[in-house]
Amino acid sequence: MRQYFLVFLLITSTLSGCFGSDEWLDEEHGIPGGLALACLQDTGFEKMEIHFLYEEDYDPIAMDLVKSRLQEVCDKPGGITIKAEETNFAIDTAWTSDDVRDARWKHGGDAMGSNTLHWYFLFPAGTHSDESVLGVAVDASTVAIFKDSVDEAEGLFGRPSNEEVERAVTIHETGHLLGLVNLVYNSPIDHEDSSHKGHSNNDNSVMYWAIESSDVGNFITGNLPDEFDDDDKADLEGMASGDLECNKQLWS
Ligand SMILES: [Zn+2]
Repeated sequence: MRQYFLVFLLITSTLSGCFGSDEWLDEEHGIPGGLALACLQDTGFEKMEIHFLYEEDYDPIAMDLVKSRLQEVCDKPGGITIKAEETNFAIDTAWTSDDVRDARWKHGGDAMGSNTLHWYFLFPAGTHSDESVLGVAVDASTVAIFKDSVDEAEGLFGRPSNEEVERAVTIHETGHLLGLVNLVYNSPIDHEDSSHKGHSNNDNSVMYWAIESSDVGNFITGNLPDEFDDDDKADLEGMASGDLECNKQLWS
């Protein structure tokens, strides 16, 4: 008996070691794009809630735009609902991507409800530990947008304006949750930027790499895109229809 107990202990401690803390009992968090099909198709989740958790005075301005962009590509017959909640994150200095993950799973709930998919958009005070980062996608259901850095990224004479930058960054991170570009599939179209993996080589796409960088004003002149381009949309359609094979899906 004692021997069995010991073996059991050994197995469980190895398991929890692999996944970190007691995560193996919880829902899997996945990688950005890991819940792309859960959004694009209606099979598992007929409804969706997009949660905006924001520090006081860091209200997101692009909530309706995120909803519209998702409605354009995702199949959610039960509708997509916005849930906005002021949240005291208790960090207002530098955020690592791990801090973002921890805060999301501390303040938010599971991504996969019974028939509802939940994605989380965090708007904390402070910056990413890499200050050139305006936004990050950290797992299959979580992104953060750093408004302090977005404000700093406003160009000379307000072009682009901080509102424009925030809209673009927010939709850019949404695109990563949808798996763009090539995060969980291989596009038949050659539109991934070879020197910035996971991004579009088209500066008219919201998935252009510089959108989430504080240098954005130096790389894009004129209006910032806040839409997916035709190649991005073709990828999303291919994934939704099943023509494009998706991998690393938490659910499919
Ligand atoms: Zn990006």
